[in-house]
Formats: sequence, C-alpha cells, structure tokens
Amino acid sequence: MPEGHSVRRIANRFNKDFKNSPIKITSPQGRFVDSTLISGQELIEANALGKQMFLHFESGTIRIHLGIFGKWSFSKLEKEPVGQVRARFQTEGLIADLRGPTICELIDQAGVQAVYDRLGPDPLWPDGDLKQLARFLERVSRSNSAIGQLLMDQSVIAGIGNVYRAELLFRAGLSPFTKGKSVPQEVLVGIWNDAVVLMALGVKTGLMLTRDGYLSAKVPRFERYQVYKREGLECRLCFGPVSIGLMQARKLYWCARCQK
Ligand SMILES: [Zn+2]
Repeated sequence: MPEGHSVRRIANRFNKDFKNSPIKITSPQGRFVDSTLISGQELIEANALGKQMFLHFESGTIRIHLGIFGKWSFSKLEKEPVGQVRARFQTEGLIADLRGPTICELIDQAGVQAVYDRLGPDPLWPDGDLKQLARFLERVSRSNSAIGQLLMDQSVIAGIGNVYRAELLFRAGLSPFTKGKSVPQEVLVGIWNDAVVLMALGVKTGLMLTRDGYLSAKVPRFERYQVYKREGLECRLCFGPVSIGLMQARKLYWCARCQK
C-alpha cells in the first residue's frame, strides 16, 4: 500500500498539471457515476492527507483512497482506456487513469471535514507545525496500545505505513512493543521530527530512504532499509539478527538488541 509520501506526490502532480484547467472526468468502468456531476469543471486544488487524496472542484470534492490495489497511470497520448479504469481525468495533452481504488467518491465540504477530523496529524501537512505535533503526542501518550500499532493507526498519525513504521522505530531505538503512554515525550518528538524529514525526502525522490549516509535515490533497494524486509539478516548496527513478527496481521520488522 502506498505510504503518505507517494499520495502527496500524486497531489503535487495534479496541482502542477491539472490545476486551474477544466477537466473532463469519465468512468470507463461505469462505477464512478458521480463523475458526470463534476466533469468539465476546473480543478481548484489537489490535497493529500495521510493516504487519501482530495481533488477540490467548485461543486464538490473527489476523495480517493488507493487502498492496497489502487494505481495511477499518466499518459500524454490520448488512447482508449486499458483494463478497469474507475476514473479518467483528462485535460489538454494529459490523461490520468485511476484503477482499483478502495474509494473514489464525490463528497461535499462537510464530508471533507469529517474525513479530516477522523484522520490524525500528517507529518507532510504543509502547515505541519507544533499543532500537528501536539496532536500526535496527545494521541500516543494516552494510549495503552503498542507504539508499533499506533504508528499504523491513521487516526494517530496519518500517512505512515509498514516501511516507515519499521524504520522510524529502529532509528529511534524504540521497541515496537512499548506502550504508547510509556514512550518518553522526547522520543516521540524525535520520531515525529524524523518522520517530517524522511517523508519530505520521500516526496522529493519518490523513494522511502531511511538510512543516514544512504539518502540518495541511487541507493539500491537492498541497501535502503535498516530493518524492513531484512528478517534473519544481520542488523547493520549490532550485527544481531533482525526479527520478524506479526502485529495486527501486518509484518513487523525490528532488532531486539537495538530497540528497547
Ligand atoms: Zn541491532
């Protein structure tokens, strides 16, 4: 599933290529029936919060959540849609096709606000300042759940997925099993600030780069991570084995020696 940085990249792309232009919106698959209500209007702005994207038009907002199987493809050439295209966004010289999203729906301003209220603070939110951080601290500090679980909870922090979860906790030297309310405040502040920097780098490069000294797009995949998908291999720091387990049905990677 795409993590927040990749959703933000798509929103940026919409702002660059589609904003202030009338957009023809169709649903070749026929499942996004409300497309006809918006088609032809100008895109006012694209925004992303966590793993969800919002395309704001004059008479409504299209909310998109890719889920596990959703995908975007962009094309400069006009061609017939291939496969199951839920929504096609077309402006002069550019087509964006959306396939397999969990959600693609038209909502009103109140609907947007309801989703915003439900989601936690996003390290990539443009005014991602102390208010966002305060919300994160408040939500973690009152919880009995494990921090590894809380980082995946979109109402606690929006946009983090399995890769950033594993890597942020390793970088903080924190066990994923520590209860939220037992994590010292300064450690939480460190995790938040780390997420702000690393996810911004993810927006810039399109890659989840998390190893200091290896923060370049040229780093091969197997060199990229500290613990993610490195189960059984030597920890890069202590040379002990990287562990794997399941936490709420998602794979969890950590180093039991480095993360206390
Ligand atoms: Zn280690």
